[in-house]
Amino acid sequence: MERNTSALFWRMLDVVEKDIVPLTWEGVRQGHKVFGAAVLRADDLSLVLAGTNHEAECPLWHGEVWTIKEFFAPSPAGHPSVPRPAPEECLFLSTHEPCSMCLSALAWSGFPRVYFLFGYERTRADFQIPHDLRILEEIFDCPSPRRKSSFLELFSLEEMIPSLANPGEAQARFERLRAVYLELSETYQATKEKSSVIARK
Ligand SMILES: [Zn+2]
Repeated sequence: MERNTSALFWRMLDVVEKDIVPLTWEGVRQGHKVFGAAVLRADDLSLVLAGTNHEAECPLWHGEVWTIKEFFAPSPAGHPSVPRPAPEECLFLSTHEPCSMCLSALAWSGFPRVYFLFGYERTRADFQIPHDLRILEEIFDCPSPRRKSSFLELFSLEEMIPSLANPGEAQARFERLRAVYLELSETYQATKEKSSVIARK
């Protein structure tokens, strides 16, 4: 069991770094936010597809919703003839704890297991984006979503670290990815400022 948790932790961080982050670098340069997602097959942890936020095109295109849309698309870009597994055969990975819209989208789509790298509190502290928590509190009167329901179960990758065989190494890897996301966020902010200056001209 512990070996499985370790394998899953390291694989998920690999997917964030190698599959999601490159898409997000491209995305932030086009003015989209830093949040990304991926779908993996539960049996061998192979990647089905990765995606990133497209909020500058439409405010609903959070990383998760975009990725779900691509997952169900008949021939998604870059994966023309790969047959899709069923959502229940997959693990869903979010770089950041999913917001209320994305959680509902995941429940409606039938993904039973959802992993996230950075929790709401980190999102609020690192990126000054408190909307997730404010929407939950103000609209749903809910301090935080349930980790387990009949629709899906949510797992924090950061919270797995103390139970891993090599927690020091895992924490260091986590912190390296955190630094990458802070850099992505700075690039996003700079791109946004530049485009609002251009718009004012
Ligand atoms: Zn969302």
